[in-house]
Amino acid sequence: MKDFTLKHAKTFDEAASLLAGGAQILAGGTDIIYSMKGMHSPNLPDELVDISGIVDADYIKEDGNFLKIGALANLSAIAESSIVKKDANALAEAAKAVASPELRNAGTIGGNICQRPRCIYYRNEFNAFPCARKVKGGVCYAITGVHRYHSIFGMVGGCAAVCPSDTAVALVALGASIVTTKKTWKAADFFVIPNKDYGTARGEQINAIDSDEVVKEIQIPIVSGQKSLYRKWAFRKAIDFPQCSCAVVANGSKADIALGGVYNQPKLFTGVSTSDPVAAGETCVKGASGFDMETEAKHDIYSNTYKIAIMKTMVKRAVASL
Ligand SMILES: Cc1cc2nc3c(=O)[nH]c(=O)nc-3n(C[C@H](O)[C@H](O)[C@H](O)COP(=O)(O)OP(=O)(O)OC[C@H]3O[C@@H](n4cnc5c(N)ncnc54)[C@H](O)[C@@H]3O)c2cc1C
Repeated sequence: MKDFTLKHAKTFDEAASLLAGGAQILAGGTDIIYSMKGMHSPNLPDELVDISGIVDADYIKEDGNFLKIGALANLSAIAESSIVKKDANALAEAAKAVASPELRNAGTIGGNICQRPRCIYYRNEFNAFPCARKVKGGVCYAITGVHRYHSIFGMVGGCAAVCPSDTAVALVALGASIVTTKKTWKAADFFVIPNKDYGTARGEQINAIDSDEVVKEIQIPIVSGQKSLYRKWAFRKAIDFPQCSCAVVANGSKADIALGGVYNQPKLFTGVSTSDPVAAGETCVKGASGFDMETEAKHDIYSNTYKIAIMKTMVKRAVASL
């Protein structure tokens, strides 16, 4: 376990000011404590700033034309909320798809969209694989190793890891905004990884926020007549990260579709026609390719090409079921 000191913040702004020296936020702790225990990275913080005591930061409410969710709302509350099911069903289904009831009770939406990658090499204990995300000049071990969990839309900055967050996919498809202590981000811009900073703590993030920036609120536009859903495929049924997932948000005969588990950020396709589900599935895997390696042919278990077939069928079925 990495040693750390713990500070407690009473407001998001206070939390942000406490991050200046390289500390990191502790919300539900289901992700960061796992990393501290596993000593996954040489960039782990010496200090954590606990935000779980910030009052009134776990709300779920309608405000004008927006559904607003506080960063400390837990995933169970979001999954069960009748307001979320009505205004942004894809998010309720994505929250419900995360891990187990215990982890959903503890895990917050803020933590879900700020969790670190789940690549098997990145997460190896004691930094056994000093990969490109964690160490300057590090390599991506997935290329020559097991890459069945990895991107089918190419690498970013020499890393093939995928965005692990279920809710990120729904938020991008729903056109959500993310309010932080510094600015309001469009979800599609938020989940751009800071690859120039690979080899530092910031380069390990799945989003573009600064190291001293804290998520306060999620805002989702309420659109009358809109239908949305989330689908997920993982190796294990009970508790597992998505290898393929999709959020479909339909307005009339057009849908915005975001894919999860297949790229370093949710992969967004806008204005897809819902009249032909088969074509929608094909549209969403255009440009996808598995890692083309000699080992792939010899050892199918290492390959990620299966994701293309699953993704195509998943989108087709999701669109057909709208
Ligand atoms: C066994 C297991 C299975 C899991 N399965 C899934 C899964 O299927 N799908 C999925 O999406 N996730 C999964 N997770 C990951 C994790 O549990 C969730 O992402 C959870 O929502 C994280 O929230 P948290 O509040 O516990 O975050 P924490 O662990 O407290 O924080 C996670 C990260 O986010 C940062 N952070 C937290 N809140 C903020 C904030 N408001 N502003 C800025 N930074 C912040 C922290 O510094 C830390 O780096 C799983 C985890 C485990 C252990």
